Amino acid sequence: MKVEIIAVGSELLLGQITNTNASFISSRLAEIGADVHYHTVVGDNPARLKEVIEVAENRADILIFSGGLGPTKDDMTKETIAAHIGVELVSDNQALLFIENFFKRANRKMTDNNKKQALVFEGATVLENKTGMAPGMAVEKEGKHFILLPGPPHELHPMFTDEAIPYLLKLNGKQEVITSRVLKFYVIGEAELEHRIQPILDKQTNPTIAPLATEGAVTLRITAKAATVEEANALIDPVDEEIRSIVGEFIYGIDDDTLSSRVAELLGQQGFTLAAAESLTAGLFMAEFATQPGVSSALAGGVVVYDEKAKIEQLKIEKSLLDEYGVVSSECAASLALNVQRKFSANVGVGITGAAGPTPHDGVPVGTVWIGIALPGKKPKTYKLLLSGNRNSNRQRSARFALYYLIQELSNLDH
Ligand code: ATP
Repeated sequence: MKVEIIAVGSELLLGQITNTNASFISSRLAEIGADVHYHTVVGDNPARLKEVIEVAENRADILIFSGGLGPTKDDMTKETIAAHIGVELVSDNQALLFIENFFKRANRKMTDNNKKQALVFEGATVLENKTGMAPGMAVEKEGKHFILLPGPPHELHPMFTDEAIPYLLKLNGKQEVITSRVLKFYVIGEAELEHRIQPILDKQTNPTIAPLATEGAVTLRITAKAATVEEANALIDPVDEEIRSIVGEFIYGIDDDTLSSRVAELLGQQGFTLAAAESLTAGLFMAEFATQPGVSSALAGGVVVYDEKAKIEQLKIEKSLLDEYGVVSSECAASLALNVQRKFSANVGVGITGAAGPTPHDGVPVGTVWIGIALPGKKPKTYKLLLSGNRNSNRQRSARFALYYLIQELSNLDH
């Protein structure tokens, strides 16, 4: 079956947003072996959308639309397709109830145009919207399938995976499930990761392996097709293990894990508390960690000791140590970690010091960062970073590296 993805939205043509929906849909379709032949983008204009549909019908069997299902005037995807293929729009009771309840809960008045969002093609398969209001839909007309999805990615992604993919698989008469596991990496770059696991990538069929670099992290999505979820997982497990045997040291978590959630989980397993002394990050480390709900049992407290005087007064760092080794040094990071651990009677202490830039700090090059980690009953361990970003990316990355090294240390407590 040939697929064409049609993204509707004038913002796409104006360059205000990138068509990430098409790339998401395409990568999911590749996993089930469907052939995407065209990506089309058209503005919020009924006449031009109609033209696009006429062209697509002649060269594809499945037309997947993103966007234009909202309540406003320029949202006209449904109406244009309905008129073109000759189907009525009817109100979907379940979707309408959902929208009404949404407004009741929010204590807001529902306007008539919101009811428009509950309209679906008569006889269509309704695709539930678990993260928004407008339902999606799929309908067949004269051998062509029209699948309509909402524009916002956080609505389109789950709807496509949970509702549209099963619809497409049924068309092929396949009773299959698709399961993915995402491995999350830090420190290693996308190019090096791909290079190191190239032999595994070369032989992939089922499961497939898709590398993806997002801001600050690299992920590998392992996706398997099988008759049941258990069978799909049984196909994923050996590939997961093989990847870990090569680059396991860089994996910090899977699926929805974040650096913060993993640190919280590992601290929780030991019943440990954490305290931090931050110089160049000035609180970013603690702020990042606190994004994780329920950190109150793990985060004892911390101090921002930006200035040398603050390091001495707040944390009793020896002036002689700073004079001898400098503020940006392994010795200073170790002392910060140890002294903040004591100050807050925490099990784990973290110290972060460095030269964020734009100018070197006491002759230490910009981007030099030291992270100290003090664990119970152990000499503090330190890590050196040589970052090449600008001031604020160096500060952000330092905070994340500290979380990453903490994961490494807490995972290897017995070693
Ligand atoms: P809404 O109910 O929010 O109006 P909709 O289904 O009508 O949803 P649009 O109005 O077309 O969708 O788009 C809503 C938002 O979704 C856009 O402002 C944009 O942020 C995002 N969006 C739309 N299309 C795409 C796309 N192809 N790729 C990525 N994001 C998109």
